[in-house]
Amino acid sequence: MSTIASNLETVCQQVQMAVAQAGRPENAVTLLAVSKTRPAADLRAAYAEGQRDFGENYLQESLEKIDALADLPLCWHFIGPIQSNKTRPVAEHFHWVHSVEREKIGRRLAEQRPAGMPPLNICLQVNISGEASKSGCLPEDVPALAAALTQQPALVVRGLMAIPQATDDEAEQRAVFGRMQQLLCDLQTDHPQMDTLSMGMSGDMTAAIAAGSTMVRIGTAIFGARDYSA
Ligand SMILES: *Cc1c(COP(=O)(O)O)cnc(C)c1O
Repeated sequence: MSTIASNLETVCQQVQMAVAQAGRPENAVTLLAVSKTRPAADLRAAYAEGQRDFGENYLQESLEKIDALADLPLCWHFIGPIQSNKTRPVAEHFHWVHSVEREKIGRRLAEQRPAGMPPLNICLQVNISGEASKSGCLPEDVPALAAALTQQPALVVRGLMAIPQATDDEAEQRAVFGRMQQLLCDLQTDHPQMDTLSMGMSGDMTAAIAAGSTMVRIGTAIFGARDYSA
């Protein structure tokens, strides 16, 4: 078995175990394979093992891979920061955007979504740990952002995304993810279509799944360490 195949199997088992431990339904969590910096051949290898959802951070690189893998029925997720002058190719080529943190970005994505395509699924990125350096809107600004963007017919506001401050303290992880779960729960009163919590990475996946994550984003554990010098 290739390294990617065996890594993927291990990660899928870890996800399933965390889902079972949390007493949630078997298919409650989607594994997003974060493939930034990886060549198209690595994604093809993951596809051969049944992986369908891929997360990318860097626009130019992702567009090349989307083109190279156009023969496969993949679901593409944009998870990186978006500059407002780069929204058009994201709107044209992705199925999901997890990193919408401002109304302007959401509005541009909506305006630039091609007419023949289904609405773009978006998550609102929340700076849940309140880190000054982190992307995402503040928790108190989420209701207004959700209200504004649900008006856009070319978007479906599916839920929330967060990248909490890294910590090994599982109680702290659970507390932070629990705040995300509560935030989503409060929004669902006005926005019942919101069904997604994109949270959990290699080091905090179990805590995220216990708190209701529906999408975990895993890169290194599937594809190996990234080599940024390459
Ligand atoms: C890179 C990245 C991940 C995956 O990180 P790994 O450490 O490779 O598992 C998850 N989410 C986001 C937003 C990322 O940029």
